[in-house]
Amino acid sequence: MSVITLDSTTQSTITPLLGLSLAELTTWVQEQGQPAYRGKQLYQWIYEQGAKSLADITVFSKQWRESVKDTPIGRSTIHHRAVSNDGTVKYLLKLQDGQVIEAVGIPSAHRLTVCVSSQVGCAMACTFCATGKGGFIRHLYPHEIIDQVLTVQEDFQERVSHVVFMGMGEPLANLGNVVKAVNSLNKDVGISQRSITVSTVGIPGKIHELAEHELQVTLAVSLHAPNQQLRTELVPTAINYPIDDLLDECRDYVQITGRRLSVEYVLLAGVNDDPDLADELASKLRGFQTHVNLIPYNPIEEADYDRPTPRDIKMFVDVLEQKHIAVSVRYSKGLGATAACGQLRANQRN
Ligand code: SAH
Repeated sequence: MSVITLDSTTQSTITPLLGLSLAELTTWVQEQGQPAYRGKQLYQWIYEQGAKSLADITVFSKQWRESVKDTPIGRSTIHHRAVSNDGTVKYLLKLQDGQVIEAVGIPSAHRLTVCVSSQVGCAMACTFCATGKGGFIRHLYPHEIIDQVLTVQEDFQERVSHVVFMGMGEPLANLGNVVKAVNSLNKDVGISQRSITVSTVGIPGKIHELAEHELQVTLAVSLHAPNQQLRTELVPTAINYPIDDLLDECRDYVQITGRRLSVEYVLLAGVNDDPDLADELASKLRGFQTHVNLIPYNPIEEADYDRPTPRDIKMFVDVLEQKHIAVSVRYSKGLGATAACGQLRANQRN
């Protein structure tokens, strides 16, 4: 059967059950000599009751639970939890191999959004990003992504409605596992694909590969600049990926999936917030079905940027609006100084 075998050097060979479909769990229980209906029970205990280990599943006989006690479900433990005034909760979750990742629960009217990590660390090294400063450690497995959503759902005691891949890591560098996690979040956890956003700086060919999975997820591209020269200063990996090629691939995504593109643009004072750059951005995005999200920079210790003034932010917005570009200003939620991606983890290590 197709179970995920974790054989990386950082983990022993185990078969976590989280991420398996009803059919796969049914096969697994049968392989353990149990009747097929136990598969349905296991599925409900994993995805609805939030069982952390097979030992918790009291509808199973003690004897059987004892015999399969070494099979993990694949859940993390909450290592640290920080609540902010606006209700946002940031979690540091400890994985089985001791690595720690960030996940964030963001409540708003009729919504609960989870910002998930896709990797431990990140290799992209964007100059303003706390995660990028720490380098890449490893990819997350599908169950480690799904677990973040279940953990927030259980902690809030409220169903998660939206998932954004805007935590630690570059999701398209871990595309296979991200797609598996998206499918399970959709089918097993019950989150609509349209309520899932995958955010990327862009890796050549990978947006196309994502499009070929024919998912209905929203693609967000972290552009941060309207031209190749400035973009390469902020996103070092852009050197291998001309901005026009990136936008061509995004155009394909929109065409194949029929979904509108989100464009993320971190606003850095005096670097990429000049109204002329807004004008250039509007030209670049002409004819595209997009929504631009401007994210005023969240100061991090390791970088020497400033957040633009409200007046400068407004000027940038005004230029885009005059050019009929749909635009929102999105402040990173929660916890003031540690609101930016990767910052909570960075601070905890110190
Ligand atoms: N690697 C992916 C997803 C993770 S970052 C990507 O780059 O899209 C999610 C978003 O947070 C990105 O748009 C990123 O540019 C933004 N971000 C990172 N550090 C930030 C900071 N210090 N202030 C504001 N936004 C930040």
